[in-house]
Amino acid sequence: MSHLLHRNLRRTPPVAVSASGITLRDQQGRSYLDASGGAAVSSLGHGHPDVLAAMHAQIDQLAYAHTSFFTCKAAEELAQRLAGDAPGDLDHVYLVSGGSEAMEAALKLGRQYYVEAGQQTRSLLIARRQSYHGNTLGALAIGGNAWRRRPFEPLLMDVPRVAPCFEYRERLEGQTSSDYTAALLAELEQCILAHGPQNLIGFVAETMVGATAGAVPPTFGYFRGVRKLCDQYGILLILDEVMCGMGRTGTLYAFEQEGVLPDLVVLGKGLGAGYQPIGAVLARAHIAQRLRDGSGAFQHGHTYMGHPVAAAAALAVQKVIQRDNLLGAVATRGATLRRLLRQAFGDHPHVGDIRGRGLLMALELVQERSSKTPFDPALALHALVKDAAMACGLLVYPMGGTIDGQHGDHILLAPPFIVTDSELADITERLGDALKAALTRAE
Ligand code: PLP
Repeated sequence: MSHLLHRNLRRTPPVAVSASGITLRDQQGRSYLDASGGAAVSSLGHGHPDVLAAMHAQIDQLAYAHTSFFTCKAAEELAQRLAGDAPGDLDHVYLVSGGSEAMEAALKLGRQYYVEAGQQTRSLLIARRQSYHGNTLGALAIGGNAWRRRPFEPLLMDVPRVAPCFEYRERLEGQTSSDYTAALLAELEQCILAHGPQNLIGFVAETMVGATAGAVPPTFGYFRGVRKLCDQYGILLILDEVMCGMGRTGTLYAFEQEGVLPDLVVLGKGLGAGYQPIGAVLARAHIAQRLRDGSGAFQHGHTYMGHPVAAAAALAVQKVIQRDNLLGAVATRGATLRRLLRQAFGDHPHVGDIRGRGLLMALELVQERSSKTPFDPALALHALVKDAAMACGLLVYPMGGTIDGQHGDHILLAPPFIVTDSELADITERLGDALKAALTRAE
């Protein structure tokens, strides 16, 4: 019996003992191709020598210093780099230990921004129905995943919600993409007006929806329209790039492909690429300036924020991405992965959609393609695929079922940026085998 309360209490997963490149190995000597980078985390794969060296050097020099007494070189350098590389005036950085913590910080920073201006009435955040922003109470409240929320509902703040931007599932027959986008924006505007801009902090969205719907890119012009509404009504645009940021879609930030500049950006996962737990909030100059002119400090904090080893690891990760032109690699390998998936599954009777950008791709599985009918959620097909994939020596990140309108099961692929073409071919082949085995079990 495991004493860990981490996951399934009835089933202990294999014990991971080592990893290198895109391969993990367990205690039984089995190896697994990491086609999802864990949960879209390991952008550099495992055991990258530069990151390990940076971490070792930092541990030897300074493993920890509390931020109420000190700053440290690694955190300062990381902040400088993130601010320098981010577009526009996203030039302030708040370093925490993961995505949910970063989301909590962004929500509080948004609130304090208005409190400092004497706008105490502003307490609401608008979010989207199909979204995931983390598991701590604030982040969970913002997220739209009803299954995750259900047991904790009485503990969560009220959040007005609008439709996600999910063309495959929600665009009506005969509706053009631009009409669909216009309808989404009209709904958002109505929601802003219904609650009153004077009561709102901002609008929160994942630039590309990750876990709840599987690598769903926005429609053309959607975020430009959102930005315009936020400006028109004087509310903040908070983009969650925990999964899709730090290069995963081929640009450092996914919002760069949308031609918008958010006020706050939430980061995690790929920031530390799994080498250390780290998340961050990037804030635009006007946010920091208001606090500087007001109370002088963001009223928030964590014991492990700005951790020297985490910052050193994240800094090394960002340096490798730039030095080795891994953003370019994401674009080209992403195109290869898309082509391979289309070749292998484009005509598959149970693959309804193949979508994504860069190295954040997903397959949506359906019972019947033309009607897009999902599988019976009781089958938990996504879990069957995950198990079958592990039996084939492959790690994929599945999610789904039709729980509370979440539509079909999907399989998320987010391989490390260093993945080779032959590894991508291997991944696709193993995924085909896993899908076949899972569908046989489901029938
Ligand atoms: N936001 C998004 C978009 C995520 O995908 C996740 C995690 O999957 C989070 C926030 C929460 O991050 P963490 O699990 O590091 O707390």
